[in-house]
Amino acid sequence: MPGTEHLNFQGQHLRCELIPDPNAADRVVAHVCFDAQKGRVNTLNQATLSELSQVLDRLESAEPCQGVLFSSAKAAFIVGADITEFGALFAVDEAQIAEAISSMANLFNRIEDLPMPTVALVNGLALGGGFELCLACDFRLLEHSSRVGLPEVKLGIFPGWGGTVRLPRLIGADNALEWICQGNEHTAEEALQAGAADGIIDGQGRENALLEAGLGLLANVAAAPDSFTISQRRGQKQTPLNLSEIEKMMVFESAKGLILGQTRGHYPAPLEALATLQKAARHSREQALAIEARCFAKLATTPQAAALTGLFLKDQTLKRLYKSLEAEVSPVRCAAVLGAGIMGAGIASQSAAKGVPVYLKDISQEALARGMQNAAAPLHGRVGKGRWTTEQLAAGLARLQPALSYGEFAQVDLAVEAVVEQPEAKVAVLKEAEAALGEDAILTSNTSTIAISLLAQGLARPQNFCGMHFFNPVHRMPLVEVIRGEQSSDAALATTLGYARSLGKTPILVNDCPGFLVNRILFPYLAGFMRLLQDGADFAEVDKVMEKMGWPMGPAYLLDVVGLDTACHGARVMAAGYPDRMATLSDSAHKTALTVLFEAGRLGQKNGQGFYQYVPDKRGKPQKKADAVVPELLAGVTGHLNSFTPEEIIDRLMIPLCIEAVRCLEDKVVSHPAEVDMGLIYGLGFPPFLGGALSYMDQIGLAVFCARADQLAELGALYQPTASLRAMAASDQRFYPQPSVTGGAA
Ligand code: NAD
Repeated sequence: MPGTEHLNFQGQHLRCELIPDPNAADRVVAHVCFDAQKGRVNTLNQATLSELSQVLDRLESAEPCQGVLFSSAKAAFIVGADITEFGALFAVDEAQIAEAISSMANLFNRIEDLPMPTVALVNGLALGGGFELCLACDFRLLEHSSRVGLPEVKLGIFPGWGGTVRLPRLIGADNALEWICQGNEHTAEEALQAGAADGIIDGQGRENALLEAGLGLLANVAAAPDSFTISQRRGQKQTPLNLSEIEKMMVFESAKGLILGQTRGHYPAPLEALATLQKAARHSREQALAIEARCFAKLATTPQAAALTGLFLKDQTLKRLYKSLEAEVSPVRCAAVLGAGIMGAGIASQSAAKGVPVYLKDISQEALARGMQNAAAPLHGRVGKGRWTTEQLAAGLARLQPALSYGEFAQVDLAVEAVVEQPEAKVAVLKEAEAALGEDAILTSNTSTIAISLLAQGLARPQNFCGMHFFNPVHRMPLVEVIRGEQSSDAALATTLGYARSLGKTPILVNDCPGFLVNRILFPYLAGFMRLLQDGADFAEVDKVMEKMGWPMGPAYLLDVVGLDTACHGARVMAAGYPDRMATLSDSAHKTALTVLFEAGRLGQKNGQGFYQYVPDKRGKPQKKADAVVPELLAGVTGHLNSFTPEEIIDRLMIPLCIEAVRCLEDKVVSHPAEVDMGLIYGLGFPPFLGGALSYMDQIGLAVFCARADQLAELGALYQPTASLRAMAASDQRFYPQPSVTGGAA
């Protein structure tokens, strides 16, 4: 059609082309297709936004075409903003951030104000900015398997391109608060029910089903404009929210209570999002967007936003670090787990849940039956939670096979040994398993304390062996340490990394040393705790302070959960491995609170008695209570009750942890600070909003950190910064470079 040719646009990130309307020869539809030439997914990076702006210039000035369809040529629509650009974007002052955000949000206003109807055609994921773009369109058609959402709070920010303004006006303030403050993804069905989608397209695999549906919708709009009331649809998103004062109170105040309970005050983003929605509710679009930009800028400069966006970048770093190692690896198609105890059952269950068939083997029929039951339980739970159909459950259970012999092991690609933590037992089981496995199969051990190189000594193919250290409970803890023994081959490590990933875990590659990475860093923290008790601190008070700091549980409670027997064993291994600084963990001449309680028969949660006592609630879940016997038992090891400030308690525990984290880097246990920090967050529950030990030190400043450690120098070697840490502090270095300001807003 004449007058519209100049709409054609071909960029590096998106294109715009004209599609003749099959129903009206004289009309055309503009099709804006996001299709990043580099990368697997579409993001709204600065370059994409700049191309979008050029396309909008054309659409605004063209003879109006019948409508605009926004779609994606990738497996997902748009996964959000480009987080790698946040560092530079947020490294300026609040006013500059607000200005940049406003200018980007203005692009979405321009979509909303186009002189023709607009439709977002969503396949796969439309998240963050990708979903905000959809909200700016007049209609949203979602492929039946697609998911949408605004996950920004998980990065310590909130939607800044109109999401907090348009979503509540579309789906109501209460729904929008839940979507924005929880940051979850929503299915197409949920989006339709809430009013965030206008239709679900089940094209049954037809390639152009979404596009055809979009064209059909625009043809219907053209045929009967009055019944589609585009102006009314736009008006709804641009006028103030119609809420009475009482409704506002009810909606916002009840959400506030819920958020405070969930975040314990550590994550400002959901509360700030709520406050923004509340402030913006009574304003028109332009004023509401200005409020959104201002509040967004305030949040973007918080240390929590830096730490949480940092987590995403660290996760990317981990993937990049192992990319070349994993390049040529073939996936594990059949796995086996030896030992059907707590860990073995958990690993086998995760394997079956994630689609990898697995044999669960034990020597005891009784233990195997119990293990199979424990492994099956989380699979049944998936049906209860609506994540699986009964057919999926049947298939999942079929992937879980019990074994008392090595009969089927020739077809196993990778086996995980998870029998009792005794070197002789493990060596014997590993030898047996190796003999039953194929030549190329990979054998791994889930040992927490025995050197991988030691376990490899009896093997015929030590190159096919490495550590695969899961954390308890397996289904919940995201970390797996893959441990490189002296003889482990790259192929063995790569296959194990790949298997961990296929189980939905984040693996890190660790060199063999006592405690590997996570336990090596945990025990100095526990040693700090023991010394604090010796100096008269109350363990329940220490727990409170550390939980307030953001840890999921304090050290006494953690020891009870791990088991005081397991912890004592770990303490012995660490004391022997690092006698220069950890000998006090297991010193027969000077008992610690841990050894005293263990020797009194208190094993922690497993026998209902540890630092606390545990009484099962109605659902059988152990509830922690103070136990009057414990202070008496500890009287011999603790000094006079002394009070410590929260800052003192935190430094006493965190300084040894941080210094050991630095040592792990220096000793090349891992190769990158991101491995240390992600290991601690995913394996130990280190408060994510602090970004991990090394990010936490960066935030404090290395010189200040060393000065604080020096004030505690009399407590021993665990508190002495290493020479290289002092050198870094003296030259004002950091573990992660400060982002530099480059680029700008579109
Ligand atoms: P567990 O005692 O619950 O289970 C061990 C199982 O191994 C038992 O069912 C036993 O019957 C079986 N077994 C013993 N000898 C066997 C053999 N020859 N062949 C097959 N099965 C045999 O132990 P767990 O807590 O599951 O720990 C297992 C391993 O995982 C240990 O190495 C432990 O250090 C490690 N680990 C444990 C945790 C934890 O928190 N429990 C965390 C990380 C790693």
